[in-house]
Amino acid sequence: MKYQSIKGFRDIKGASAAFFSFVEKTARDIFARYNFSEIRIPIVESAELFLRSIGETTDIVEKEMYVFEDKGKRKIALRPEGTAGVVRAYVENNLSQEDASQKYFYVGQMFRQERPQAGRFREFSQIGCEYFSNSSIYADVEIILLAKDILEEAGVKDIRLEINNLGCEKCRPLILKKISTTVKDKFNDLCDDCKRRSVKNPFRVLDCKIDGDKFGDIKPELCDMCCAEFESLKSALKASNVGFSVSNKLVRGLDYYTKSVFEISSDILGSQNAVCAGGRYDDLVKDLGGPSTPAVGFAIGVDRLVEILEKTKPESKEQLKSAGVKVFVSATGNTDSQRAAFGILNGIRGAGITADGGYFEKSLKSQMRLANAVNSNYVVIIGEEEVKNKKVILRDMAVQKQEEIDVDGVVEKINKIIKHTGSM
Ligand SMILES: [Zn+2]
Ligand SMILES: [Zn+2]
Repeated sequence: MKYQSIKGFRDIKGASAAFFSFVEKTARDIFARYNFSEIRIPIVESAELFLRSIGETTDIVEKEMYVFEDKGKRKIALRPEGTAGVVRAYVENNLSQEDASQKYFYVGQMFRQERPQAGRFREFSQIGCEYFSNSSIYADVEIILLAKDILEEAGVKDIRLEINNLGCEKCRPLILKKISTTVKDKFNDLCDDCKRRSVKNPFRVLDCKIDGDKFGDIKPELCDMCCAEFESLKSALKASNVGFSVSNKLVRGLDYYTKSVFEISSDILGSQNAVCAGGRYDDLVKDLGGPSTPAVGFAIGVDRLVEILEKTKPESKEQLKSAGVKVFVSATGNTDSQRAAFGILNGIRGAGITADGGYFEKSLKSQMRLANAVNSNYVVIIGEEEVKNKKVILRDMAVQKQEEIDVDGVVEKINKIIKHTGSM
């Protein structure tokens, strides 16, 4: 019986895995720069949490969420996104009172049962952040700059930022009503999903891949306060040298957004594919039982980001693949030489040098072949003769020359040689 991974799931390995780690490390460094602290939340939550926050008429909740019953007959879900869980944690742990700075980031897997298609997986990785308790538009601008820094420092060039404003609790109902009227006029032309949703959440019709283009440019009529805020947001972006365009079609697929929303995409993946999306959700904390708290956040799709890097930075793929073994330790003969060799291998690693070896059951020839294959700079060889004379053979793979050195102080000697040749 041979097992296979489940449809829509995949193994990430080799240079791709190294790209994932590189992106995560880059993000962590930049989050630290902006004083965000990490939050680790469960992968499963009660399904109800996502219904309440993301919205019951959204694609995610209606079609894509993994929901199942546990042994206690509780309906639980694999998280399809990160914000709902972070807000749940924020409320449950009373973080509005506990933490002076309420800026959190997370890194982790999300799950959506989407129709399988190229480049889309049912388990995917997101890097996201949530910034609570700051209603200033400068919080919005800060996280946009933060997202841009992560993408650019990871190596994505030519990113495009689109922004929109979905209105506050005052003007949002009026905007919805206007969209609702427009949508009603074309009701018979709409797909089944939109027919169903147009009553509960007409915003979603503008976002529909089938129907979105039927409505031209519906300009939201924001209230004076939202207008003023949106203007300040735009001028703050300009002052921060961030290029952007305003898109009235940008409504996001989740119900909890209010006011500003944004998407960042790269031409490499085509215009439909955002690599980062986010916005403000000033009502969600209260909706989930917490104190009224403004909040803004985003999520970066790591799989898509890595896809961009693999297409545009093949040279770093090679670098990531061959991190390189500095020293390879091989042994021939009896257990004494193997024990001595293994001791040296551990000593070299203890000195902070990348080393491999210990394949002592193989012939010397195949140990040398392996040393070559992993791009070793040096190979240590110990046989019965060397053990007897308290010597080891050190072979420089670049010049194909070897010398005999004393076993005493061998790690220090190797360390010195490596530092001297500058190949560390
Ligand atoms: Zn408003
Ligand atoms: Zn539709």
